[in-house]
Amino acid sequence: MDPGLEAAFRYVERLLYGDMERPGLTLYDLERLVGYPARGDGPLAYTLPRTQSLAGVQGVRLYYYPKDPLLQLIVEIEDLEGRKHLRHFRWNGFSWEVPEGKRGELKSTEEVLGLIQVGEDYFLGFPREEALELEEGVRKGEALGAKYLLCPRCAARVFYAPSVRPSEVACPRCGNTTLLFKTFSGLEVAKDPLEALADEQRALRRLLEELLAYLKRKLGP
Ligand SMILES: [Zn+2]
Repeated sequence: MDPGLEAAFRYVERLLYGDMERPGLTLYDLERLVGYPARGDGPLAYTLPRTQSLAGVQGVRLYYYPKDPLLQLIVEIEDLEGRKHLRHFRWNGFSWEVPEGKRGELKSTEEVLGLIQVGEDYFLGFPREEALELEEGVRKGEALGAKYLLCPRCAARVFYAPSVRPSEVACPRCGNTTLLFKTFSGLEVAKDPLEALADEQRALRRLLEELLAYLKRKLGP
């Protein structure tokens, strides 16, 4: 749980729905904030001024879509790690509601982000779209610096989000709890299969040597 992010969500909730002291933001207020219609048909953006409540995030932006009857407002909260949390709203004439199938809950959803398997790799703590993006980056050898855990037993890779505590992760494939901390460096994609082959050859050679030694012992010199 990220307290800075949670505080920002609470701030946005008060802004949109109001509290004891002041009413919530109306569509008219939003239009004034973004400068509609003077600044064009949109989408138009407004960045909230930094306040104490928003000190724990990089920023909060409101995007207004004047021409979309189903979606008029996207709230974007960017956390300190640069991840963007988007929430969707439409104005029903009185207040903001969440369009069907969209995400509008004003709290961090980290706790529902589970484990996603894409191809041979696992992604932990990412929204699905981000996991797919990262997987593509890994596949192309471009996701340099991405952190992952490597299972030395079954070679599974678990890429994890900054919010995840990697020391608490077990291998999703074999359950091994002793995983190696790795940073994706692109080259590993090309190197790993060769290294695996070399390891295998070394192990095979060792096995042959043991067998030879055994035979020598059994059969004599
Ligand atoms: Zn494993």
